[in-house]
This record gives sequence, C-alpha cells and structure tokens, in this order.
Amino acid sequence: MFSHNKRLQYTVRVSEPNPGLASLLLEQFGGPDGELAAAMRYFTQGLAEEDAGRKDLLLDIATEELSHLEVIGSIVAMLNKGAKGQLAEAALEEAELYKSLTAGGNSHTQSILYGGGPSLTNSSGVPWTAAYIDSRGDPTCDLRSNIAAESRAKIIYERLIAITDDPGIKDALGFLMTREIAHQKSFEKALYSIDENFPSGRLAGMKPFDSLYVNASTGPGDTEGPWNSGPEWERIEDVVEAGPVDGGDGTAEVKLPADQRKHVEAMAQRTASDASSDPLTGADLGAADA
Ligand code: MN
Ligand code: MN
Repeated sequence: MFSHNKRLQYTVRVSEPNPGLASLLLEQFGGPDGELAAAMRYFTQGLAEEDAGRKDLLLDIATEELSHLEVIGSIVAMLNKGAKGQLAEAALEEAELYKSLTAGGNSHTQSILYGGGPSLTNSSGVPWTAAYIDSRGDPTCDLRSNIAAESRAKIIYERLIAITDDPGIKDALGFLMTREIAHQKSFEKALYSIDENFPSGRLAGMKPFDSLYVNASTGPGDTEGPWNSGPEWERIEDVVEAGPVDGGDGTAEVKLPADQRKHVEAMAQRTASDASSDPLTGADLGAADA
C-alpha cells in the first residue's frame, strides 16, 4: 500500500518565479528520463519480480522516484506560482500578461493549458507515455536498462543544473542527480549479483558468431581496440569476399505447398517486367522538350 507524507524528501527553496525554467524542468517530471518514467519502470518490474532482494530494491527505488517526482513537481509549481496567480486573476494588462507567459520555452502552453501546475509532459509539451518504459521481464535485460536509465537521468539533471543560477534549485537538482548515481550503483550491484548475467536469457550464442567482429564499414577511420580485436575476437575484414558467414549460398528459400507455388508463379508471370521494352510514360509526355 502507499502512504503519503506531506514533507518533501528534499527541501525546495526557489528564489523567484521563472515560467521558462519551469517548462525546461518538466523534462524530469514527465519526460523519457524523468521521475515518473523511473517510478513506473521500477514499480512494474518490482511487482513481477520473483527474487526477494531485487523485488525489495525495485520497490524501494520506485517509491523514492515518486518522492523525486514530488520534489521536481514542487519546483515547477513554485516557479509558476506567480504566473498562475496573474493568469487566474487576469492581474496584468493583456500585453504584459502575454509577455510574461511567453518569456521562454513553451511556458505559455504550460500556463494556458495546464494553469501553471506541473504537467505530465516533457519540456516540449509532449505528453508522458508508457512507451518510455522498456522493461522486458528478464532481470539482466531490465537491470541493464535501469542502469542506462539512471545514467541518462543523471546527465539530464547535470544539464538542468547548468542552466539555472538559482542556488536553491541548483541544490535540489544536485540532490536528485546524486540519487540517480546511487540508484545506478545499486542496479549495477544487483546485476552482477546474478551469477550468470551474460548474455541475457537462457540460450548461449552460436559459435563462433558470438565473438566475431565484422569490419563492415571500411575506409579512413578504421580503428582497432579491445572492443573489436585481440585474442577474444575473430574478424572479418572484407564482408563481400567472406560471403555468407554460414558457408551457404546466402539466398532465401521456402518450401511452398504445390497450390501456393502455382499462385506465386502465376503472379510472377503476370507482373514480369520486359527488359527489352522502352515504353512511353507520363514523364516522357510531360517533358519540356516532348
Ligand atoms: Mn529520481
Ligand atoms: Mn533513480
């Protein structure tokens, strides 16, 4: 069950209203790397998790992410508080109000459409979607995805910290950013606490293709490093010369039942192109020198 405590996880002190900054901060409220996406990702994974340790971790972090959602949403609400009141009471002359709302980003949309409250959109006003959640129900896939999600969230906070000089906002964003670092560490530990964590799933890869590097893009800039050469790797330098890697002829075939084959052949015959023809076309008729 959920319970709610009215105190925030981290104290929010905003120096002055700034609707433009508010709309940029929505990236971490309803954006792909934002707190709602994080909470929903770990909450849904946690519900389905069988391992007691991972279930506990996922539900702890999911719940903390909701606390972050509350912190970032509160910062947005504080930044919009002045504009919200002015809009509600039509306090300024129309032109002044217009100017204050269109000061930056899509803050005018946020104000007019959402009344200045934190909207479940990203910073461009795109509505939050469950498509941001990419869980697959396999612990090693999902933990890797969670690690990547935490590192993305960390970077977005870092960029947001860079665009404000409000010390209170910098401080709160710094806390939120730091918690994503801690979450990434937990997810990394959880991943490597699974003895067989690579590759994902149950099936081993086919030999030797699981340690084959295909130098498929050739030319200036070809570079070798531990990721594509050394004792661990076999290499194909010329994909055309190497041919199909299975040693076959590289064609695609299917055994068709006789009646289906008859129809396919009839269609092929009916739509066959005549390579010896030179037909007059609309392009010819419409050409300038026709
Ligand atoms: Mn968070
Ligand atoms: Mn996190």
